[in-house]
Amino acid sequence: MDCLFCRIAAGDIPSTKVYEDDAILAFRDINPQAPTHILVIPKAHIGSVAELTEEHAALVGHIFAVIPQIARQEGLTGGFRVVSNCGPDAGQSVPHLHFHILGGKELSLEMA
Ligand code: 5GP
Ligand code: ZN
Repeated sequence: MDCLFCRIAAGDIPSTKVYEDDAILAFRDINPQAPTHILVIPKAHIGSVAELTEEHAALVGHIFAVIPQIARQEGLTGGFRVVSNCGPDAGQSVPHLHFHILGGKELSLEMA
């Protein structure tokens, strides 16, 4: 297994976990871009949003049901941003689907 986030999901590489269940894991980004910066990943390998199909509907729905729980747990009462970079033009650096949760400050509106 040579995928970094598969190895983190398997526990082979340590991470600071904030949520875990059978299907997904959330952990703190090693290089935070905001006071709160968490990555939410499926444990099963999916390359990016570009690979999602109807088959993943329940999994993606589950991720988006857990994200607000994490936001509440982290005290992000002022709001937060959810981002998924997909492919080279978006700067995706780890080819395993992940959703960034960013918050804890007023975020820049810069999008491109
Ligand atoms: P991307 O650039 O693909 O959207 O996001 C990948 C994210 O993974 C980056 O924000 C980067 O800081 C984070 N990251 C890379 N390697 C590790 C690691 O080994 N542990 C953790 N916790 N985060 C990582
Ligand atoms: Zn993977």
